[in-house]
Amino acid sequence: MTQQSAVLLIAFLVGLVVAAVLLRAATRNILPRSAMAIAALAIPIWVAYFASSQGRSLLASKGFLSSMPDALWFGLTFGVFTAAFFLALGYVYGDARRRQMPAWAWVIAAFLIPNLIGFILYFLFRGPLLGPCSSCGKPIRGGEAFCSHCGCSQGSNIGRITADNRTI
Ligand SMILES: [Zn+2]
Repeated sequence: MTQQSAVLLIAFLVGLVVAAVLLRAATRNILPRSAMAIAALAIPIWVAYFASSQGRSLLASKGFLSSMPDALWFGLTFGVFTAAFFLALGYVYGDARRRQMPAWAWVIAAFLIPNLIGFILYFLFRGPLLGPCSSCGKPIRGGEAFCSHCGCSQGSNIGRITADNRTI
C-alpha cells in the first residue's frame, strides 16, 4: 500500500463516519431527500471522473499517484467527502427549518464560507428547538412557561422539549 492510498483510506473512513452520523438525522425526517439524492450521486460521479483519462491526467498534473487503483481510491474518497458535505448542508436546512430560522440563508452561508466556518457559525447561533403548544399546537420555544400565541400554560411539556434538544 502506498503512502497516498493509506492517507486516502483514513480520509475515506473519516468521511464515512461523518456521513453515517448525518444519515441518523434522516431517520427523524430532518434531512431533505434532495440532499440524500445528491450525496448518493456524488460518489459514483467522482469515481467515474477520476478513473477517466481526464481525471487521471489531472491527478498526475497535481503530483498525485494516478495509476488505476490510486485514481479509484481518490475518486471514492472525494465522493464520500462530497456526500458528507451535502448531507451536512441538508442537515443545516432541515434543522434551521424546525427552529424557524431562515434555512436557505444558513445553507448558502455554510456552502460559501470556507473551512467549514459557516457550519460552525450555524451551530453557535442556531435558535432553540421549537415544540408544539400543548393547547393550540403552534410552534413555541422549548422551556417557555406560556404559549405566545394562546397564552396557555406549558407545564407538562418542558421536560420533553428539553430532552429533544440534546439530540443533534
Ligand atoms: Zn398555544
